[in-house]
Amino acid sequence: MSQSLPNSTSQLIDRYGRRVDYVRISVTDRCDFRCVYCMSENMEFLPRAQILTLEEIETVARAFVELGVGKIRITGGEPLVRRGVPDLLRVIGRLDGLRELTLTTNGSQLENCAEELRAAGVRRINISLDTLDAGRFRALTRVGDLGRVLRGIDAALAAGFERVKLNAVILKHRNHDEVTDLVAFAKAKGLDISFIEEMPLGVVDGHDRAEQYYSSDDIRRDLERVYHLVPCAATSGGPARYFEVAGSSMRVGFISPHSHNFCGSCNRVRLTAEGRLLLCLGNEHSVDLKRVLRAHPGDAARLKAAIVDAMAIKPERHYFDLQGQPVIFRHMSATGG
Ligand code: SAM
Ligand code: SF4
Repeated sequence: MSQSLPNSTSQLIDRYGRRVDYVRISVTDRCDFRCVYCMSENMEFLPRAQILTLEEIETVARAFVELGVGKIRITGGEPLVRRGVPDLLRVIGRLDGLRELTLTTNGSQLENCAEELRAAGVRRINISLDTLDAGRFRALTRVGDLGRVLRGIDAALAAGFERVKLNAVILKHRNHDEVTDLVAFAKAKGLDISFIEEMPLGVVDGHDRAEQYYSSDDIRRDLERVYHLVPCAATSGGPARYFEVAGSSMRVGFISPHSHNFCGSCNRVRLTAEGRLLLCLGNEHSVDLKRVLRAHPGDAARLKAAIVDAMAIKPERHYFDLQGQPVIFRHMSATGG
């Protein structure tokens, strides 16, 4: 994996002049949790034949890197419940030209595989953690075990990733009163943390999204009662605004799809588990790369042409609305968050 390429080598430029150099790849729509904001209680998952094989995922990743994409994030669903994912990471991690390979996980499997992932070339890892209370954790994930995730976080720290970041979706009356505790926890462990506003993706049956909306500004106000947050230049080239906690190197990020629209600087696309290249999280514009892969096996030029052509339909922005039914019917788990 080359470390030296600048961000701007991507040949993928959309009609608004935005350069796409970051791809998020969902390797499965399945998960061992059922988080209330992400899934409904009874989910139907895709049959195996409909999702890309690990070899097909590798082929698409290679095509993107050859088109100049520098950063790939592996996600899901829960990526670590799919067998063979550490091997896939190892192969993708070796692609010449890739600057950064990262992973987003719920942490449930990390106890067993953190070291293997680090050895495979994953440099940074995001672990989702919304609460430090075991009962709340169970209620938010419907089935998850907080202790196991905390052990997973420790395993990630021991494995020596360059940065470990927590992701917390904050919901009013569910966990909004824990934001300072979550920052204290992260600070004590040497982790970064990002707070995420819930997005209306897919029909969920556990709670009312409009009623439980808690904005990034609310969270920031709560944190500033305890911490001095200094705006920081770090950017993922994407949606998060970052702050440093004064007196530490810890970063606190805010991902605010409702209160601070970030579409103007969007640098990313997503590959769903079934091989749809999704041009925007909040729109349905997509291109079926599985069809290209399976109709023309081994034809890398055709695959790359399909990816380049897809840039023409990347929408200018999303319009999220928390009232009423979501306009996007796919769940975050099917999307690759
Ligand atoms: N299972 C892994 C995890 O939970 O980290 C990876 C996939 S998950 C879809 C990726 C991220 O999306 C998680 O941090 C999760 O909290 C977030 N997420 C899921 N549904 C969301 C929603 N409706 N709005 C905002 N963030 C969401
Ligand atoms: Fe699974 Fe992640 Fe969705 Fe939670 S947020 S249900 S852990 S995919």
